[in-house]
Amino acid sequence: MDEKALLERVPDRLYIGGEWTTGSAGTFPVFDPATGNRIKEIADASPEDGIRALDAAVAAADAWAATPARTRGEIMRRAFDLLQERRDEFALLMTLEMGKPLAEANGEVTYGGEFLRWFSEEAVRITGRYGENPEGTGRMIVSQHPVGPCFFITPWNFPLAMATRKIAPALAAGCTVVIKPAELTPLTTLYFAQLLTDAGLPAGVLNVVTTTSSGTVSAPIIADSRLRKLSFTGSTAVGKKLLQQASENVLRTSMELGGNAPFVVFDDADLDKAVEGAMLAKFRNIGEACTAANRFIVHEDVADEFARRVTERVGGLKIGRGTEDGVTIGPLINEGAVDKAASLLQDAVTRGASVLTGGSRLEGSGTFFEPTVVTDVRPGSEILREEIFGPVLSIIRFSDEDEAVRLANDTEYGLVSYVFTKDLARGQRMIERLETGMMGLNVGVVSNAAAPFGGVKQSGLGREGGFEGIHEYLNTKYTLTPNPFGV
Ligand code: NAP
Repeated sequence: MDEKALLERVPDRLYIGGEWTTGSAGTFPVFDPATGNRIKEIADASPEDGIRALDAAVAAADAWAATPARTRGEIMRRAFDLLQERRDEFALLMTLEMGKPLAEANGEVTYGGEFLRWFSEEAVRITGRYGENPEGTGRMIVSQHPVGPCFFITPWNFPLAMATRKIAPALAAGCTVVIKPAELTPLTTLYFAQLLTDAGLPAGVLNVVTTTSSGTVSAPIIADSRLRKLSFTGSTAVGKKLLQQASENVLRTSMELGGNAPFVVFDDADLDKAVEGAMLAKFRNIGEACTAANRFIVHEDVADEFARRVTERVGGLKIGRGTEDGVTIGPLINEGAVDKAASLLQDAVTRGASVLTGGSRLEGSGTFFEPTVVTDVRPGSEILREEIFGPVLSIIRFSDEDEAVRLANDTEYGLVSYVFTKDLARGQRMIERLETGMMGLNVGVVSNAAAPFGGVKQSGLGREGGFEGIHEYLNTKYTLTPNPFGV
């Protein structure tokens, strides 16, 4: 596909009330991290533009909430179909602005699209209940209602899926939306807004603001008493700030925050499966996933063999621009990400760890870091505490199950954990003992639109996807009426 022609088709303006409008703060450039080249110049929103977007979402709220659920679902189903037709365009666009290999960008179109299909089906299954109170004196009616206008803030690492995972359940529930994508990857969201319009979404139901001043544009929207819900995906540090802001109006919030996933390999694990799982859990999305395995906690009897096999597999990965054939490791998002991976690795090595392969940034254009395996990482190393967000696989050893549990839970995060064992009872014990919102038992990827995605501890609040996902956008109302028989 012609990159230039695709980029020309992507809107370069804010999307407010069904109109593509200029940004009052001018424009800003979007870059390809594989080349450092500017690929497009787009509208930069001011705080006033943000409030205009909220005005549009508020104006459209009642009509959208009153739109039959079947109609809402059908619009989303059409959006799902259109996304399949435009799959190659969305995949290429994500590779261009974010850097992930084209095959993985294609995988994200599938994953992101599934939220549209799933919630197009869930839209018509919003139910309540009716029952007698225990005293027999009344009837209790429990009903569900759209929360109202929502504000979404999304990260750069999954430009499509992080948007659809919020937009689809919100639209299904009858809520209107303002979304602010990350400055680094705004194009996919703009192109997706165009797709939803083509699918028949009425004006004002979805509004997009792109900005270089995320804090100053977001704060007035969050402070506005007409907003009813804030949903954020990003770092725990920013999530905490937003929670403080949201507390002012006691806003409903969903927070999908950082992770520090343990990947536990027991001595009875099928090592082939564990290595396969490790490659996915670590190197998918260039390691830039909140679900990326951050700490490989491997039983001492199999640690050397596990390290040998993953090192061999890492040797087969191909670094390059994500559009090139066979590339499995694209660039990191920017220089800061490369610096972070390098400094975490340096700290681990200084404290006694050994690098088995990789370990360096690549010279030349683009922000590339070699896929790396580092073993014998010592307790206290930064790499065990911080999200690496890069292609560095770090191994520590354990000797018994209690130690594995202690090490795995030794983090303020609790998004996802991976466990490899052939012992079913041990696997079940790990489900109960690990402090985690999600778990992969003998698998290296857990995400699915039909599953409740989310974390415990400082990894967040709420769930996206599954039957649970739509309830983030519904208020429960309870009504009591007298016993109709007069008792
Ligand atoms: P980030 O720096 O927290 O940014 C996330 C979003 O927040 C971006 O749109 C960013 O906009 C915006 N933002 C930053 N500061 C803000 C402020 N003061 N007020 C309002 N918005 C603000 O995170 P990131 O580096 O993009 O993404 C990586 C993080 O996301 C990792 O920690 C990862 O684990 C987490 N993540 C979590 C999940 C999950 O489901 N749990 C999924 C994916 C990623 P600008 O970039 O334009 O400033």
